[in-house]
Amino acid sequence: MLDVVLLGVLVTAIAIGFGLGYRQALRRPDPAPPAASPTLSRDYFIGLNYLLNEQPDEAINTFIQALDVNSDTVDTHIALGKLFRTRGEADKAVNIHQNLLARPALSVVQNEQVQLELARNFMALGVHDRARRLLYQIEEQSQQESHRVAAIRLLVDLFEREQDWQAALDVTWPLLSQQTDMKRPAAHWQCELARQDRDEASRPLAQRRLKKALQLDPQCVRASLMLADLALDNGRYATAIARLGHIADQEAAYIPTMLPALQHAYLCNHDDAGYERHLLTLLDIAHYTSVIVNLGELAHQRDGVDTAIALTGERLGISPSLGGLDYLLDLYIESQRLSGRETPDSRLRLLKHHTRALLDDRPRYRCEHCGFSGATLVWQCPSCRHWGSVKPIIGVEGE
Ligand SMILES: [Zn+2]
Repeated sequence: MLDVVLLGVLVTAIAIGFGLGYRQALRRPDPAPPAASPTLSRDYFIGLNYLLNEQPDEAINTFIQALDVNSDTVDTHIALGKLFRTRGEADKAVNIHQNLLARPALSVVQNEQVQLELARNFMALGVHDRARRLLYQIEEQSQQESHRVAAIRLLVDLFEREQDWQAALDVTWPLLSQQTDMKRPAAHWQCELARQDRDEASRPLAQRRLKKALQLDPQCVRASLMLADLALDNGRYATAIARLGHIADQEAAYIPTMLPALQHAYLCNHDDAGYERHLLTLLDIAHYTSVIVNLGELAHQRDGVDTAIALTGERLGISPSLGGLDYLLDLYIESQRLSGRETPDSRLRLLKHHTRALLDDRPRYRCEHCGFSGATLVWQCPSCRHWGSVKPIIGVEGE
């Protein structure tokens, strides 16, 4: 498909050049017969010949040679390099863009455009040091704000790939007041650094970084979760509960993610009643399966399995889900076992086998930006590289 696009661009570009040359020749007062450059027309027809013989690579090379570099064709050359990079041939893109840089016809603005493309090519090839040098040069010297911003964003991409979170923060810092969309990634870089600090047993430093993350992005659920974890480690259960409670206001979709920590905090605080009250407030926000199951377990332990079945069945009636059905089957099997009615060929066990198999086969998290799905929660989508876009799946097959 890209070959077709590439060839389309080339043939069109050369045909336009050919046509313009022909029209200019027509306008000339010189009575001599109009004719385009013999070299251009020869290369053009050689290229077409390759195309007709189904030799697209040779056709593309011939068309590129036929297209002179001048101020009118610079954009076409830049676009051609991009197309090569998009189809995985970044080395050819480097050749085209380096060839452009060697031409004196380029203006300062065009020169920077080509340098940005060249940096993208080097990143695609994994030659990070050359990309970094070009990008820092543009970031420091360019008079064009858009070029400086583009260079900084590419540097951020590069530092993220190298997991150099501090460098990403440093290079983005001057931009944060204008480029507000960078605040969410910056909050996650602080979280990444806090994770390193925590692993190196520097918890006060980790805490300071997490608070900075929340200043950058007050909706950063990850920072709240990590602050709650630090509080739990220090035995400050009430603080942990408050931090986790804040998550429902930040992003309700993450309520199922924080439930294990919330349960742990209330359990350590010996406050089952408080946990149940907290779960009921969460149920008012959304009927997530995890909340219904946790409430069912509390009822099971306190009032017995039949009460748990009645309560869980009622709540799942409002918000049916495969996970809820799976839990309800557990309760029914337990009820049968207690009443001595269970037999080895129980139909409930067969149903349970099916719900379990269906659940095991389902992803639990999905990126709301690109649709990537997986079994574990990641803070940066591995597919589209957005931060904080992977969330628990909500609905019949999820929460
Ligand atoms: Zn994604």
